[in-house]
Amino acid sequence: MLTPQQALKQYFGFDDFREGQEPAIQRVLNGEHTLLVMPTGSGKSLAYQLPALLLPGLTLVISPLIALMKDQVDGLVEGGIAATYLNSTLPAREANRRIRAVLEGDVKLLYIAPERLRNRQFTQTLARVQVSLLAVDEAHCISQWGHDFRPDYLQIGPTWQAMGKPTLLATTATAAPKVQQDILGLLGLQSSHIIVTGFNRPNLVFRAQYAPNERVRLEALQALLKNLDGSAIIYASTRRGAEEVSDYLQRAIGQPVGAYHGGMDKDQRTQVQNNFMRNRLKIVVATNAFGMGVDKSDVRLVAHYNMPGTVEAYYQEAGRAGRDGLPAECVLFFSPDDQGLQEWMIQSDTPGYDDLRQIYTLLARAATNGNVHVSYYELQDSTGLHPVKLRVALSELEQAGMIYHLGNQGGYHSWKVQPLSEAALRQRAQAVGRRAEIRFELLDKMLGYAHLTTCRRQYLLNYFGDTAPPKAPNCCDNHKQDAVEDLPKAVTPQEWYPLIILETARTLPKKAGRSLIARILAGSQDKQVRQWGHQRHKFYGKLERLSRKQITALIDKLIEGHYLSTASVDGQFRRFTVVDITSLGQQALELRAAIPLYLDELPDARPSRSRRRSDTLEETFTLFQEGLTPAEIAAKRELAESTIYNHLVKLIADGKVVLQDVISPEIEDAVLAAVESVGSAAALAPVKAVLPETISWEAIKCVLAGHPELARETQKLEDAETPAQRVVILGQLDDPAHIPELLAALENDSDNARRLAASALGKIGDQSAVQALITLLKGETRPQVRQYAIKALGRIKDLRAASLLEQIAANPEEKDY
Ligand code: ADP
Repeated sequence: MLTPQQALKQYFGFDDFREGQEPAIQRVLNGEHTLLVMPTGSGKSLAYQLPALLLPGLTLVISPLIALMKDQVDGLVEGGIAATYLNSTLPAREANRRIRAVLEGDVKLLYIAPERLRNRQFTQTLARVQVSLLAVDEAHCISQWGHDFRPDYLQIGPTWQAMGKPTLLATTATAAPKVQQDILGLLGLQSSHIIVTGFNRPNLVFRAQYAPNERVRLEALQALLKNLDGSAIIYASTRRGAEEVSDYLQRAIGQPVGAYHGGMDKDQRTQVQNNFMRNRLKIVVATNAFGMGVDKSDVRLVAHYNMPGTVEAYYQEAGRAGRDGLPAECVLFFSPDDQGLQEWMIQSDTPGYDDLRQIYTLLARAATNGNVHVSYYELQDSTGLHPVKLRVALSELEQAGMIYHLGNQGGYHSWKVQPLSEAALRQRAQAVGRRAEIRFELLDKMLGYAHLTTCRRQYLLNYFGDTAPPKAPNCCDNHKQDAVEDLPKAVTPQEWYPLIILETARTLPKKAGRSLIARILAGSQDKQVRQWGHQRHKFYGKLERLSRKQITALIDKLIEGHYLSTASVDGQFRRFTVVDITSLGQQALELRAAIPLYLDELPDARPSRSRRRSDTLEETFTLFQEGLTPAEIAAKRELAESTIYNHLVKLIADGKVVLQDVISPEIEDAVLAAVESVGSAAALAPVKAVLPETISWEAIKCVLAGHPELARETQKLEDAETPAQRVVILGQLDDPAHIPELLAALENDSDNARRLAASALGKIGDQSAVQALITLLKGETRPQVRQYAIKALGRIKDLRAASLLEQIAANPEEKDY
């Protein structure tokens, strides 16, 4: 018989064992049950693959991911090892062929997904084979404390018992001590059975960046990719995110960027993965579906575009960087939105008592003689539950002993329905609720990492219960501090801005978010500022010469430079992020250091803006009326073109300048379509993101100023100053009681009022407006107004308007609406 060392060389082509492999293999060969905890990529699989070749019977490997399973088996078969797998993607005939091979002793390693343990036929087959080793891959899936709890894994303990307890090797990369204990407990192992080897990956440097919006993230990503020498994986939390970010990057950096997620068809995914592995594609933006089985050594960067839900998941994915041992970077971007998304995901797969009850009742009603055949799709359709929630609920009902899965064929599942047990149902619902709580706790730990101001490596090692010192030549962003004492003293106003912000953050009686700090410094009158008495703060309005956006950008730079730190706190309605001064920031304040923050176009002095603003607006207005273009006005006044556009935004909003004189109809339409697709004009960034690069922020602002009906907040009728504004508010109220007033407005002298009235009537959709709209159209000459009247009639869909609309559509003179 070969020795382990010989088998290593002969079958796997390796000269030496890696840390942890040899003791684990030795234990397995001695028949000692073992829980092996080693980081991703460290070579855990060898700990069962190699013994499988030396042990007399079958090695059964339970692995949760079908894709991973196939890759592993292919790799083994290539190396001349008799391995195969069984999963639901195989045609019945092929599955039977493989089972026969197992029964005949022709297979050394059999990979299965955990759900197969519920298949009676399979467990009967197992009873007829000699199993020498049961390997449980991704063993953390058994624990509800883990980040990837899979109820099917709970079947493993009982099956193992039933098999007569062959040697058991459970492996995982991602087990916090609590999870390790849970795995031991559930499998009936003792703490002496654990091997945990170093989680420290000295070649990885860890960074996290608070990135409150897409623009900051995308720019930061671009900068990271610019210096990329090797491959990069960027993880996004949604399929759509993966696609959008990859599209954006591809355009921005001008080289191919792949997207990968579970919603793509299999061939596409394989192609992306192959291209990545073969270096034809250096950058992939992916959801967490990517990486299981992706084992590429020269990944130099793993960036998380969104924050994952747990530290385990994060470390698992980040750990795909630098497998070759050379320096690589792990960068996490995070924002309050990520937290919200994670919270939503937890809620969406947490069925409550009512959900469980509903599904059970549905199955019970549909059953004949206690048996029911139904597809997931049908169940989803009739319950309206999120697919994940549905699956979790079914598994819970099984655990409650209220249904048994008998098997599935052609997408249809068969269940035996047992009598209702109210107590069991309640117990399961409680367990599910508890699990959600646990996941919230895990999310908190992840947030802890994101907002950390101390050593990230130490945090990670502690998290996994690894006591090794957190040594690394280049550790993490929290070690890198600017040498504040070497900075010159602040002299110019620009150099004072950061210090003013730091002092404000230091002295606010209650910690505030960046937006509130910006508003305080800008001297905003808004409710939140007044509510907390911030207008009495010594620096209230101190930076009024800067825009809020500029102040916020400065705050972000201070966070990036570790002069300010962030923390996530519970607010009245939701969690939000507050900033606080760090010790580095304190030091900078004490030394009055001129912190270098690079921000374009910071004004250094400007007269008080109330006086200046109206003058400057007037001047732009006059030149515009004289027929100068924004570019010409900018040149003449020696101001930035964007400044002139900002004046025009105000002039359009005030009704002094007509939008269509500033912006082409194509751009107007594009922006309106973008707002519609985003579903709101409340924030500009998402609108900008779906528009072509060439459409500027200023153009978007102009369009929105010209379309007050898109405004987010509903105002009161008393606030209206012009007829058009009154119509906008009437439209927002969306109340049929206002129809008479809106009909009257169709005859108003102001084009804008007519247009907005037509739009509001279309929105209300009442037939009583049809005749008036038809009359309006017959005499109306302004295309803008016509367009809205036609749209309104189109929305109301009344037969009286049909022939007129057809005529208009057929008339080549009419604009194409
Ligand atoms: P894990 O399951 O821990 O994430 P794998 O078992 O997939 O890691 O192994 C990761 C990579 O390391 C694989 O490419 C594997 O072939 C390689 N590997 C494993 N053991 C050794 C070894 N002793 N010497 C060199 N490479 C190894």
